Amino acid sequence: MYGHFQNYLRDTLKEIEDAGLYKHERIICSAQGAEITLEDGSKALNFCANNYLGLSDNPRLIEAAKKAMDERGYGMSSVRFICGTQDLHRQLEKAISRYFHTDDTILYAACFDANGGVFEPLFTAEDAIISDALNHASIIDGVRLCKAVRYRYANADMADLERCLQEAQAQRFRIIVTDGVFSMDGNVAPMDKICELAEKYDALVMVDESHSAGVVGKTGRGVAEEFNLYGRIDIHTGTLGKSFGGAVGGFTTGRQEIIDLLRQRSRPYLFSNSLPPMICGAGIELFKMLEESDELHTKQQDNVRYFREKMLAAGFDCKPTQSAILAVMLYDAPLSQKFAARMAEEGIFVTGFYYPVVPKGQARIRVQISAAHEKAHLDKAISAFIKVGKELGVLK
Ligand SMILES: *Cc1c(COP(=O)(O)O)cnc(C)c1O
Repeated sequence: MYGHFQNYLRDTLKEIEDAGLYKHERIICSAQGAEITLEDGSKALNFCANNYLGLSDNPRLIEAAKKAMDERGYGMSSVRFICGTQDLHRQLEKAISRYFHTDDTILYAACFDANGGVFEPLFTAEDAIISDALNHASIIDGVRLCKAVRYRYANADMADLERCLQEAQAQRFRIIVTDGVFSMDGNVAPMDKICELAEKYDALVMVDESHSAGVVGKTGRGVAEEFNLYGRIDIHTGTLGKSFGGAVGGFTTGRQEIIDLLRQRSRPYLFSNSLPPMICGAGIELFKMLEESDELHTKQQDNVRYFREKMLAAGFDCKPTQSAILAVMLYDAPLSQKFAARMAEEGIFVTGFYYPVVPKGQARIRVQISAAHEKAHLDKAISAFIKVGKELGVLK
């Protein structure tokens, strides 16, 4: 049997390769950080990690993880409700609730699971889910697992959202779902307008803060802080895998009864292992750090501003951004790939994206800027951009 299937798989893999879409993995032989070491011992500056606050190799978090492992062991060997809940899990849930000003929080193994497990327990075929067209794959999959009627509006397009809300008036409950920051443009969802429309058309609001938490808002506490929407967003989901230390783990935080029902019915929570103690211990320490000081968030924001201004001054076409993501527009797909490859040769890791990840004719380089970057790192990357830009005719 395998022979036929094997041929089919080989053909499929070849199609992926021929289309130039094959994902090759880089092997890093150091901790994650602004500067990373590769297999051949060479070093590169990293501008393509979600390490927004530079915490992936933070000594305080490493220490807290070790301490939790020493005191509470390596693994939980259970799901939460059987015998997999330690005091550390509840402490981390409380810390996340404090950070987002929400009633309560439920942890998951990943935000992919948080999004996968949030809709089906709460909504039925009588209800409507109204989703931004550029929402993350895990939201799309979560919506698919739920029988609610689906509506899709064009990215951040409030007129189109209003059309969906009008069409969905026949349903029992409605929920609007959006990413807080969209990962290709770095734009923040217009949450103030979304909440206004939600109130006008009697809908709940959910936001995935994976790319916004730690970055967006006066002190980085996400979209509710940015737009002063405390009390008006019903559900936030998020990850511990980006700003919040970069290890692993996800959460849903929001209204008490929503979290209570998810604990009873959410399948990725009920049927998947508890987070290990080291993740919880480090997570608790992380939120303590963010409460103590806003320094990392401020540095991250200063870095983005500095980088974008220098790039604009050099003549690059950069999208506006209120996040850690900067889109340097090249428009041409092969050029975006060649540009990223040349940057890597210069020791700078950035990502080139083109259709179907972004719309046709919108190819770009995505730069992700972190509090881990020092001015010298930023300057080196900008110089490389200018050098490659001139070489490839992007700059005059
Ligand atoms: C990264 C990301 C996720 C997935 O988070 P994990 O914890 O890595 O599963 C979900 N949603 C959005 C918007 C993301 O950017």
